[in-house]
Amino acid sequence: MGGTFDPIHHGHLVAASEVGARLQLDEVVFVPTGQPWQKVEKRVSPAEHRYLMTVVATASNPRFTVSRVDIDRDGPTYTIDTLRDLRRQRPDAELFFITGADALAQIVSWKDVDELWELAHFIGVTRPGYTLSESGLPHDEVTLQEVPAMAISSTDCRQRVADGEPVWYLVPDGVVQYINKYALYTEEENPAP
Ligand code: ATP
Ligand code: MG
Repeated sequence: MGGTFDPIHHGHLVAASEVGARLQLDEVVFVPTGQPWQKVEKRVSPAEHRYLMTVVATASNPRFTVSRVDIDRDGPTYTIDTLRDLRRQRPDAELFFITGADALAQIVSWKDVDELWELAHFIGVTRPGYTLSESGLPHDEVTLQEVPAMAISSTDCRQRVADGEPVWYLVPDGVVQYINKYALYTEEENPAP
């Protein structure tokens, strides 16, 4: 499951858990992006902070792991590179790419999309506020899955922190504490360790 994870929240974790259970996956690999190409105009927290929050959030689940492939690669992150790297590391694995309804709509509009379908099967999960329409999706390569609706976004979490509002229960407790420890999403932000 790729994402900016700025910060990781319970919408991400529920989606990953649901797909993992439904498809009986051995492992769900969270892959924080380097500089996401869709977000070059926006301010994104340093990769190391996003990586560490993802580690904190997933540490207690034996099937959840976090990969550094995207944050250790220079330049903007493209999903095709992510999948090539994961395939190289796990040559015998069957790969699934878990993505929300909003991100899936972007992916199917890419130009090299055919090569993506060869590398992984795509699982599009429902997300409140976005429609997961079947139209235009190649049926053999994309599976749509409904997951419990969590109307949470990282954008909203960042805004709440900036406004001094709580993010308890929207993100895991350890992530609340990490955000406070490094003063993320405030003017005083501290560098990652
Ligand atoms: P931002 O607001 O910064 O874009 P986000 O909440 O959309 O953050 P991302 O890191 O962009 O989080 O999302 C990573 C992946 O998780 C994407 O595929 C996205 O569609 C999916 N996703 C994010 N939030 C949810 C949610 N609440 N329910 C289901 N899927 C989600
Ligand atoms: Mg997003």
